[in-house]
Amino acid sequence: MKYVFGPVPSRRLGQSLGIDPIPLKTCNWNCVYCQLGRSKPLTNERRGYFPREEIKAEVKQALASHQPGEIDWVTLVGSGETTLHSSIGWMIRQVKSLTHLPVAVITNGTLLYLPEMRRELSPADAVLPSLDAGNARLYRKINRPHPEVSFKRLIDGLVAFRKVYQGKLWIEVMLVKGLNDTEAELKEIAAALKNIQPDEVHILQPTRPPAEIWVQPSDEGGLLRARAILGDIAKVIHPASGSFDLSGAGSLVDAVIGIITRHPMREDELLQALTGWSPGEVDAVLAELESSGRAQVIGRYGYRFWSAASAHYPHPINTSPQHRV
Ligand code: SF4
Repeated sequence: MKYVFGPVPSRRLGQSLGIDPIPLKTCNWNCVYCQLGRSKPLTNERRGYFPREEIKAEVKQALASHQPGEIDWVTLVGSGETTLHSSIGWMIRQVKSLTHLPVAVITNGTLLYLPEMRRELSPADAVLPSLDAGNARLYRKINRPHPEVSFKRLIDGLVAFRKVYQGKLWIEVMLVKGLNDTEAELKEIAAALKNIQPDEVHILQPTRPPAEIWVQPSDEGGLLRARAILGDIAKVIHPASGSFDLSGAGSLVDAVIGIITRHPMREDELLQALTGWSPGEVDAVLAELESSGRAQVIGRYGYRFWSAASAHYPHPINTSPQHRV
């Protein structure tokens, strides 16, 4: 399958069937922590990046090939910014016509200032936008946005969406050491959240290869500070453990490429996910993918991470064990 993957384990969404409607890595942000590397192109253009009918046909096929209970949520989550696809609202409605499973949208939230975007996302059961900064200066530093998506537009859009949205609004805060985990920055994020009134705030940490080599997850003190300052609705979300369903892939190569394009994976996690194939076959395929340049290995935090060949990391290899996650 080209656009549908998983189910993959998610701490918040159980076994989540993913729909990826955006080419790697098409985004209007270029977050320093992005696990998919730098944004190329950095764009704010909404259009039909992939044919929507083909996406719908794959969703239908994936739903039909799983038993009840194997999928908990259907999640729109792009290899870039999901809402840049001009048919995101159509896709949500189509998925809801195909299944009673709840639908989630993972987005950076930048386009919610547009009334049509608020309408398009309204039928989703959960929307998970990002808010990593409580002021424009830090926003530019962490998220490095396209000029059209200002901090003011982000906040205005989130506030306006909350006023009309009946589903679950779960805001994600990615905590980066030394950037947004200080008391002063967290207090500004808390003030912005007070205006927005989300149902929950999810504190995340970068655990997959960040675009920028200097990005580090916050420490225990930072997590405690974030919980205390962001209030009772904030919870720390640790990476999920569980099985990746790669049965939709036609071959071992397709399975590896399909998963690492959306989820760059630590080598040990990838090998774990591939236990359905013989170790000899897996070793041979990984060696061939690396030597031929069809996949790339990124060194971060002392680990080897497998990622798509076309992802842009300025410093691909750093294997010094600074921090183990
Ligand atoms: S983390 Fe999300 S919003 Fe940020 S650059 Fe990556 S894809 Fe875009």
